[in-house]
Amino acid sequence: METKLLDPALDPTALAQAAALLRAGEVVGIPTETVYGLGANALDEDAVGKIFAAKGRPQDNPLIVHIADFDAIYALSPAVPDAARALAERFWPGPLTIIVPKSDRVPAATSGGLDTVGVRLPAHPIARELIRLAGVPIAAPSANTSGRPSTTTAQHVLRDLTGKIPAVVEGGACTVGVESTVVSLAGDTPRLLRPGGVTLEQLREVLGEVVVDRALREAIDDSEKVSAPGMKYRHYAPKAPVTVVRGAPDATAAYIRAHADAHTGVLCFDEYAEQFHGLTVETFGSACDLAAQAQRVFDRLRAFDDTAVTAILAQCPDDTGLGLAVANRIKKAAGFHIVEV
Ligand code: AMP
Ligand code: MG
Repeated sequence: METKLLDPALDPTALAQAAALLRAGEVVGIPTETVYGLGANALDEDAVGKIFAAKGRPQDNPLIVHIADFDAIYALSPAVPDAARALAERFWPGPLTIIVPKSDRVPAATSGGLDTVGVRLPAHPIARELIRLAGVPIAAPSANTSGRPSTTTAQHVLRDLTGKIPAVVEGGACTVGVESTVVSLAGDTPRLLRPGGVTLEQLREVLGEVVVDRALREAIDDSEKVSAPGMKYRHYAPKAPVTVVRGAPDATAAYIRAHADAHTGVLCFDEYAEQFHGLTVETFGSACDLAAQAQRVFDRLRAFDDTAVTAILAQCPDDTGLGLAVANRIKKAAGFHIVEV
């Protein structure tokens, strides 16, 4: 299959073409402010099946359903809690997915067989315009081959999915860079299932108590039941194995210098790059600039795949604010292989 790059900046019919593909039950790579999504009609089981096929995604891993207006949530859920309205008022459009009870209209294929559905109203203007033009809610996981780092540019999507999908819409580099925060309102107490662009601290300002799922910080055994099935799979991994070095940045830099050899790749904060002369270095932002780290982390993990490194040692922020999301992605890329210094 030929994969077209549809660029609204160059071709005024680009979004109409993408919407026509979505209405015809096809999958399309879509820019959002978090990461690029692989979108399809969320209410069409066959279309959704093509997402799983193109990504090689396990069938029990539910998809997030994207809408363009808040009221579209009522067609997806028979019982929208007041807390969902409060969250939407504060954080939508934006990088927050809210898990609510699912209506029968949402096929089991979309929700991974669960009786809940994750809903998000993205901020990227192209994503919203496309959902409106398609006229249906759009199910979209990240547009990467399953297990690989998520995609934050159209080029990343083409690299993973050329020949497997009919089109990708160009929307520039994602501004947030890590996936949405996922919060479940389906139980008694709100539960953070995935840290993302909206921080835990911000959620607590609106919701009060928010339980943090253990799987965010630790490896989960394959046989364990987890609240977000996506948490149990190997994720975000470049080809070379990653080790996360946790601790104060000066100490982690010293550890990396002591343990690196000529074949080691180093993922580090900008101001530490010069300490790793002779090694393959990717920087992902200043130690104090979490927004930059989030925006770049997947691109830099992917960059190691174009090098000959056989192992990667990574610096990593602590769990404060957006650091919880950045650290979670790096730890998952490392399969939770972590050294504390
Ligand atoms: P992805 O879109 O590939 O970045 O993954 C979506 C994430 O949201 C995965 O970790 C899913 O397991 C999680 N998710 C989506 N819908 C639900 C749901 N109904 N219940 C729990 N987790 C969900
Ligand atoms: Mg993903």
